Amino acid sequence: MADAFPELAPPLRILMGPGPSDVHPRVLRAMSTPLVGHLDPEFLKLTDATMELLRRVFQTRNRLTLPVSGTGSAGMEAAFCNSVEPGDNVLVCVAGLFGERMCDVAARCGAKVARVDVEWGRVVEPEQVAAALKAHPAKVVAIVHAETSTGAWQPLEEIARIVHDHGALFLVDAVTSLGGVPVEVDRLGIDVCYSGTQKCLSCPPGLAPITLSDRAVEVIHRRKTKVQSWYLDMSMVERYWGQERLYHHTAPITAIYGLYEGLRLVHEEGLEARWARHQRNGDALHVGLMAMGLELGAQQGHRLPVLTSVLLPQGVDDAALRRDLLTRYNLELGGGLGQLKGKAWRIGLMGHSSSETNVLYALSAIERALREVGVVIPEGVGIQHACARLEMG
Ligand SMILES: *Cc1c(COP(=O)(O)O)cnc(C)c1O
Repeated sequence: MADAFPELAPPLRILMGPGPSDVHPRVLRAMSTPLVGHLDPEFLKLTDATMELLRRVFQTRNRLTLPVSGTGSAGMEAAFCNSVEPGDNVLVCVAGLFGERMCDVAARCGAKVARVDVEWGRVVEPEQVAAALKAHPAKVVAIVHAETSTGAWQPLEEIARIVHDHGALFLVDAVTSLGGVPVEVDRLGIDVCYSGTQKCLSCPPGLAPITLSDRAVEVIHRRKTKVQSWYLDMSMVERYWGQERLYHHTAPITAIYGLYEGLRLVHEEGLEARWARHQRNGDALHVGLMAMGLELGAQQGHRLPVLTSVLLPQGVDDAALRRDLLTRYNLELGGGLGQLKGKAWRIGLMGHSSSETNVLYALSAIERALREVGVVIPEGVGIQHACARLEMG
């Protein structure tokens, strides 16, 4: 039966889509080390260190800061199902697919959902949130920091102030931003913030770091109804991650090894240096793509360095071209989502994938592939502009 079930031999791809990103060899090595029990004193030390490293990357002193078992969407579920009780009013800012997903999740928690909608690619303006809160007072206001479907980078500071003036909890999706651009949980007073491991933290998918402010924890402890998800009930989960070390569900040990090593890499590089690296490489990619005559999807001035949405020239076959890039160059880019399906690409420069090498490689592969299908691009123009931008530092 050896023929029917060949040995696992995944190709070595360059992961420049919307996640997962390339995983550092040190993380992969950590994940091949021996298991210990999830209540082993050595493992408990590791969970404490992981929580401390997570606080640093979230820039918070929140006690309740831990990785939820599950991908980024489990973080989203945990954020909503703990902070929302049936009948609560929730205001969701929708600027793309992940804002839409928040509405769905909140509604499934029994929330009465009001929304602020903006055109995909644009960011939500503070005045819109203020007006919406005046019309629909809410217990929780939710927003996506880095909208991975559009490449837009949502400013949070003024909106945070408005939300707190209204006495609401501020809930932020930092799945694509954490570890790539600053996520300032304490300075902005974000009450509930979650992320995922496979984007700018460059670990495999499977964990969702989350942090809750004391205010959020108080709201959870004052709930009149039980959290409808047993698995994601933070008041139970925290008893394993806290002093009691009470069994709730078996911690995904190997995934936590990987996250710990990934966070150590973040710590060694330093947050400031890491943000600067992502910004520099993102800027170079943007400049290079625009020099090739391509249009970026996100609003100018609010473009993420970690995820770039670029519109395809008319008549280009999205799926065929991306398949070509994957098979000939081992280069994975993401397709458009929702209303941008078939019309845009999403190029990630996240974590370990954010390198000068990858910027130049992707620009040359894209140029070659587009020229081959007849798009007129002066030879090497993207690379030249990107290099000039990189040399500026
Ligand atoms: C990827 C992503 C998610 C969902 O994470 P999964 O790991 O795919 O479950 C949620 N929000 C944003 C902004 C994302 O980019």
